Amino acid sequence: MMVKLAFHEVRVGRTSASSGNAVLGGGALGYWKEGGTVIVKGVGEFIRRPPAPAFATPAWRASSLLQEMASKRSKFADLHVHTRVSDGWVPPEEAVERAQRAGLAAIAIADHDSISGVQAAIWAGNKYGVEVIPAVELSSGIDNLELHILGYYIDWQSKWFANRLSKLQEFRRERATKIVDKLRELGVDIDYNLVIAIDGGVVGRPHIAQVMVDRGYVRTTDEAFDRYLGTGKPAYVSKYQLSPTDAIKMIKKVGGVPVLAHPLFARADHLLPKLVEDGLGGIEVYHSKHDATTTEHYEQLAQKYGLLMTGGSDSHGIGEIPIGHVRVPYSIVEKLKEELVAMKAKEVTAEKLVGRGLIKREPAKRGRKK
Ligand SMILES: [Zn+2]
Ligand SMILES: [Zn+2]
Repeated sequence: MMVKLAFHEVRVGRTSASSGNAVLGGGALGYWKEGGTVIVKGVGEFIRRPPAPAFATPAWRASSLLQEMASKRSKFADLHVHTRVSDGWVPPEEAVERAQRAGLAAIAIADHDSISGVQAAIWAGNKYGVEVIPAVELSSGIDNLELHILGYYIDWQSKWFANRLSKLQEFRRERATKIVDKLRELGVDIDYNLVIAIDGGVVGRPHIAQVMVDRGYVRTTDEAFDRYLGTGKPAYVSKYQLSPTDAIKMIKKVGGVPVLAHPLFARADHLLPKLVEDGLGGIEVYHSKHDATTTEHYEQLAQKYGLLMTGGSDSHGIGEIPIGHVRVPYSIVEKLKEELVAMKAKEVTAEKLVGRGLIKREPAKRGRKK
């Protein structure tokens, strides 16, 4: 989308002493506030700029914003894209091609619990001149909360990581069997085949509850949940094999930077201190489903905890959220790389200290298995 710079192209919507909105020439909706943050929605650019002088008029701010956009719009990245490898619609190659058409310099392929699309995406990246960042989005859970942890620059060729991911996928398939096992231990005898037959393979707790009703173990499915299947009940099996801490550790083990995805959905602000302690490196502050207030909230939290502010569309290829819908300045990619160097430095320092006998480490935990 072209955004023209001439001042007359700018119509100022709502303004106040401290913030304002503008409709830009290209139809993009702009939002900014004094104090250094500029958020531009619609084209999805997120730009920082110094505070406007005290005498700045809304018109001055708008034109200054457009000039800044023009100077920085050449290099942007979408750091959260899904492909057909998980629940996206397009193959990795096509995701990269779409990124090129959207004018992106870089794209992170971050499929759910899978790295199978990375190689093809990197290949396509070379073809289309788009930098591909190997990534993953791990599902984790704790206390009824679902947290997605993005991992950037993971060693996607690590055999250990691939094995771990396939175990996670297996776990999901086996969850129903585990529930049936637990029920049997509790004297509720249900045939595995019966549970599986109902839904042709993918089995959820409601199906199991229905079988329990049919078999006369409970009167209603609600009762099945209340007595057996609900969270914390005797036959409960967590949907998630990973806790957020496990997910962060798993990403760090293969040299990646762990970032909390779409914190709005995670609703886990209270867990941030713990996650930071575990090694969380960033928060996905900019996301298709984050409005200006949410964005500001997470900018503040990121600052508070010294976390990188990343962003991405969470596009699944086609649909209402195209690739590049949210794009961040390329400088954020550079910051991710700096974080990697910093992590490496810490590791090297730790290795040296181990070498000098200043840190003791259990032999089994040393090194990265390939
Ligand atoms: Zn997610
Ligand atoms: Zn996602």
